[in-house]
Amino acid sequence: MTSRANQPRAHAIVMGASLGGLMTARALSHHFQKVTLIERDVVNRQPESRQGQPQTRHLHGLLPGGFRIMMDYFPDLRQALADAGANVCDFANTMTWFTHGGYRKSFDMNLPAVTMSRPLLEHLIRERVLALPNVQLIDNCSVQRLDTDADRQRVTGLTVLHKTSRQLDSLTADLVIDATGRGSRSPQWLGELGYDAPPVSEVKVKVGYTTRIYERDPNDRLTNHWILCTPAAPSERRFGGLFPVEGNRWVVTVGGWHGDSAPVDEPGFLEFARSLPATDIYDIISRSEPLSDPIPYRFPSSLRRHYERLNRFPLGYLVLGDAISSFNPTYGQGMTSATMQAAALDRLLADNPSDEKLAKTFFQRAAKVVDIPWQLTVGEDFRYPETEGPKPAAVDFLNKYVSRVQRATLRDEVVCAAFLRVMSLLKPPTSLFHPRILWRVMTAA
Ligand SMILES: Cc1cc2nc3c(=O)[nH]c(=O)nc-3n(C[C@H](O)[C@H](O)[C@H](O)COP(=O)(O)OP(=O)(O)OC[C@H]3O[C@@H](n4cnc5c(N)ncnc54)[C@H](O)[C@@H]3O)c2cc1C
Repeated sequence: MTSRANQPRAHAIVMGASLGGLMTARALSHHFQKVTLIERDVVNRQPESRQGQPQTRHLHGLLPGGFRIMMDYFPDLRQALADAGANVCDFANTMTWFTHGGYRKSFDMNLPAVTMSRPLLEHLIRERVLALPNVQLIDNCSVQRLDTDADRQRVTGLTVLHKTSRQLDSLTADLVIDATGRGSRSPQWLGELGYDAPPVSEVKVKVGYTTRIYERDPNDRLTNHWILCTPAAPSERRFGGLFPVEGNRWVVTVGGWHGDSAPVDEPGFLEFARSLPATDIYDIISRSEPLSDPIPYRFPSSLRRHYERLNRFPLGYLVLGDAISSFNPTYGQGMTSATMQAAALDRLLADNPSDEKLAKTFFQRAAKVVDIPWQLTVGEDFRYPETEGPKPAAVDFLNKYVSRVQRATLRDEVVCAAFLRVMSLLKPPTSLFHPRILWRVMTAA
């Protein structure tokens, strides 16, 4: 066994400098003398969406579960967000959420939350990560393949292509982490090295997003409110979200499940917003100035790669974030899941695991993180008969109970708070079966 206890960890490489990669670099900075982020895109030191992360142009909610961990890692983040014009608020107090025929109770949960554009959040985190003395970023540089020792037992580094000079380069590291997102090539790279690819679970949902930015009137009654309209499935399949973000703007996304997407032309986009079960979003955007054209995004399926089920895996290599699991984005869980995985890795490395144990233990812990958002999203998605894929056991029964919970959240603050804590990934779904909650749900009028 290779014990790490007395060996300094010299160098870690993280592939992908999006949110998952950045949070991982932050976590690794405690445990390695040097951490290098490799990013295929050019990364400018300003808030902007890059080619390799087209989803960042769309509505991104940060759940309190993820925000809390980020604030632990970056104690000034909350203030920096507020200074940049983001909407720092209490999670439930500024909520206008229509679902199941009514509005969720709005009340003070004493749970810090923020709405901002995704590029702003990433920029502020990136600036803080790159300010760490032992973290560097090599951008405009694409990973081509994994390098290994002669018997392919250990990943020893990467071959990368510097895109401007077209030069190939070899980088060595004690640990390499793949945070390249859903399009991760780890399954192929592992196959080329003689390892099995991970088994995959795929749940087809055909979700369509259409997003547009609008000017926000700071004097509007709802200017600090985040507004959601989510469907009572399966009879409804359309959703909408409108979040206040920096620069006195609203980010507005409307869309639907199983091909029911909003058009990108102005009248079609407006009409789609008007067709939602509540007209709050339509009412605001129909009187607001658009600042962009509507842009589409198609999300075919939730995808989970079960690295935890592999028996053989090279030493010195891990996979994290969307590269492990990308969820139906309407539940807003991806950034929080990636952040929780990075924090789990931080805790694991603090225990000095042997190299032989690192991957197995990390993938088991990452799977525990992923299990909950996967269960929540996939469970909801199976309310639609068109949803295809491996259906978890007892999901129909659980969905019946969750429908009652959803209806109870419209009237009961205690149930609403319990539900929001689960959706925020702060509490497990089992907490909704606590006798105190169960009783309130079952007796709700
Ligand atoms: C439409 C949509 C809406 C979403 N909304 C939310 C939301 O509201 N809330 C939420 O929490 N999450 C949301 N998500 C999910 C969220 O965007 C991701 O979970 C989050 O970005 C973390 O992903 P990641 O860093 O693992 O991967 P990604 O964000 O996909 O980043 C991968 C990075 O790797 C780089 N890369 C790829 N290949 C290479 C290579 N060969 N060499 C070097 N670099 C490479 C890419 O350029 C990119 O920068 C949404 C996703 C979608 C699709």
